[in-house]
Amino acid sequence: MAKAQNSLFDTAPQPWELDDQDDWLAARIVFAERPYGPYDYSIPAELESNVKPGVRIEVPLGRGNRKMTGYCIDVIGPFHELAGSVNPGKLKPVERVVDTTPLISTALLELANWISQYYVCELGIVIETIIPTGVRNDAGTREMLFIRVADDVVDNLDAHRLTPLQKTILQTLDGSRQDWTPRELGETVGCTQGPISTLRRRGLIVTNTRRVQQKRHDIAPEKRQTNFTLNPEQQTALDAISHHIETDSHKTFLLHGITGSGKTEVYIQAIQKVVEFGRQAIVLVPEISLTPQTRQRFRARFDHVAVLHSHLTSAQRAWHWKQIAAGKVQVIIGARSAIFAPTPRLGLIVLDEEHDGSFKQDKAPRYQARDVANFRASNECVPLILGSATPSLESWQRARDSKYQLLSLKNRVADRPLPDVATIDLRVDFGGRKRFSPISKKLRQEIQSALNADGQVILLLNRRGFSTRIQCPGCGHVEYCPDCSIPLTHHAEGKKAVCHYCDHTIPEPKLCSDCGNPSVKFSGLGTQRLEKEVEALFDVPIVRMDTDTMRKPGSHEKTLAKFRAGEIKILLGTQMIAKGLDFPNVTLVGVINADTALHLPDFRAAERTFGLVTQVAGRTGRGEKGGRVLVQSFSPDNKTIIAATRHDYIGFTEQELPEREELAWPPFGYLARLVIRSPIQSKSEQMAEHIAESIENAASELETPVEVLGPSVAPAEKLRGQYRYHMMVGTTKEGVLQNVLARAKTKIKPVDDVQWMIDIDPQDML
Ligand code: ADP
Ligand code: ZN
Repeated sequence: MAKAQNSLFDTAPQPWELDDQDDWLAARIVFAERPYGPYDYSIPAELESNVKPGVRIEVPLGRGNRKMTGYCIDVIGPFHELAGSVNPGKLKPVERVVDTTPLISTALLELANWISQYYVCELGIVIETIIPTGVRNDAGTREMLFIRVADDVVDNLDAHRLTPLQKTILQTLDGSRQDWTPRELGETVGCTQGPISTLRRRGLIVTNTRRVQQKRHDIAPEKRQTNFTLNPEQQTALDAISHHIETDSHKTFLLHGITGSGKTEVYIQAIQKVVEFGRQAIVLVPEISLTPQTRQRFRARFDHVAVLHSHLTSAQRAWHWKQIAAGKVQVIIGARSAIFAPTPRLGLIVLDEEHDGSFKQDKAPRYQARDVANFRASNECVPLILGSATPSLESWQRARDSKYQLLSLKNRVADRPLPDVATIDLRVDFGGRKRFSPISKKLRQEIQSALNADGQVILLLNRRGFSTRIQCPGCGHVEYCPDCSIPLTHHAEGKKAVCHYCDHTIPEPKLCSDCGNPSVKFSGLGTQRLEKEVEALFDVPIVRMDTDTMRKPGSHEKTLAKFRAGEIKILLGTQMIAKGLDFPNVTLVGVINADTALHLPDFRAAERTFGLVTQVAGRTGRGEKGGRVLVQSFSPDNKTIIAATRHDYIGFTEQELPEREELAWPPFGYLARLVIRSPIQSKSEQMAEHIAESIENAASELETPVEVLGPSVAPAEKLRGQYRYHMMVGTTKEGVLQNVLARAKTKIKPVDDVQWMIDIDPQDML
């Protein structure tokens, strides 16, 4: 028997070596809350066949044997080592097995394990993230009562003194193998429930209850559409991908194609191959791209498409999950969490707009769906396609290192030219002018001529609200949110001032809250104010699109439909309008201020600015009329802005990557961010110091240098009444952060009123 060797000198036999205990089985269990585990529990013989990895199990916990439900992650026997080197004979037994079939497959458990290790997050939390709530609590199912004839009754009907009706009831029940509910039986026989109940009381009919699916969510098929004949670039890309689909092998492709170059057609034809092989494909898109248009594009080519969007009820979500697990869905389209779709035979994963920030989850587990997809694809031996016009520098560098295979679509379909982009220097345009208008003279003229030629216009301003700053001209006091260290934004609609972080709202201030000065100034530009300006200048239908106007589910789609139909002439809004939309009649795109994201304290500021300007520029020139882009900027000489106006992604990477390399920022270094928060500032600070020390101690044992930057006050110092400290932990070797942080974590004791979190590969630096 294999056993853990405790010590070389420990020659005395262990207790279990004396007993006949070679034949034990234990369930390894994790919990989604404290204490997370893993813990081992012995499996009583009568439960042996029910305990499997992926089922939930009820166990007694701690001294008081409190009942807890956990997830079984493994079934182990004599050849394993028990957690905490205990005697198998002393394990507490499993009390109850909750599920008859595993909620999560082995492949998904492996994925959960990887996420747990890579993101230094408890496995129980990861598993609970993967399995939708509706699946866990059987949403959309109902306990139903079924009836059948008791054994041997029908063979001796005459022994029971029955009325003719009672006989008919029993014969009807017995004549069919299907499950009957009492109501169905009554309807079929044409009787009331009375005689059926009588037979139940006499024990001639027996009952059993079962959970059944309540409602179906079948989807009407769409009009079919045939494939396009691929152009040579698309064909080359498809061939490379197909090779790996046919040979069941993993490869990650970075499909770099400018907007409108036909990437989606490549995805679709690759998925067709996958479906031919009887396999399923997962397509991840940013939540905002889950429009009817996207749905329709896929439903026009495949019979069984599931679209997992955020407005599904938990019953609908659970229903889709089961359909997918049963292998009934060919293509799953969804936002980041669709990466957990329980496909029985995965054939391909596609991640469109792979640079998009929404693929990173901002609560535990703080996973990046792109990296999760990469692990899943490699673990299940399938190809992964990452598509973008402006790939993340992480993916781009991996392609340069030949970890990913680069596929390029350099031309737009039908050789439509990319739009011409010009910059407007706001310093010149506004120099000396008294009244600030967000629309320069040049932009105004261009909008007018686009409208005159019956074209449509998109205007991007990446800030919502009316004015972004409320300041007293007398004492300089700026109105801040009382709970967050963030200035309040003035919203003219409803005359209020709102914190864009926590939604704290006060009436529009009439007096300075510090000195009482009555001439409070509203400055800085938000989308609401832009809307007012545009309305004053142009007499055409205008719509503003930002999180304030698009709160209702479906409003985003409705607005876009109106814009497509030409009912709206000018669409203005935040980055919401910059994504993946295809409007042939848009002949002008205006970027109101390209600098909004450029000067944030974040090493990705340039990358975000480049991406945003390029993406929104791609919204024009899609039709026969061509298109033009005007970019207003206070820093038109900035290298990033120049590269964006030239559609020069590669040029941008060539200037940005060396800077990142020099400072060992990602993609050259590995980064984790830790944030500590508490309503009591000193506690937050002390905990931050303690954590930094634990990390430094854990790191000192390693050869690879690990740098702890901080702790310091976080850029957003206070949020929702919590004082925040943060630190960055950086290193140059893969896996080192996980090693250090996992070990440091065991040394860090929880403190009341203080919360802290680890963010691996952080995206948010505030
Ligand atoms: P991307 O996803 O790269 O932005 P799309 O796949 O949306 O580009 O393609 C842009 C447009 O060109 C779409 O309307 C699409 O239907 C069309 N298209 C794609 N491939 C072809 C092709 N080979 N021949 C003709 N039209 C195509
Ligand atoms: Zn706030």
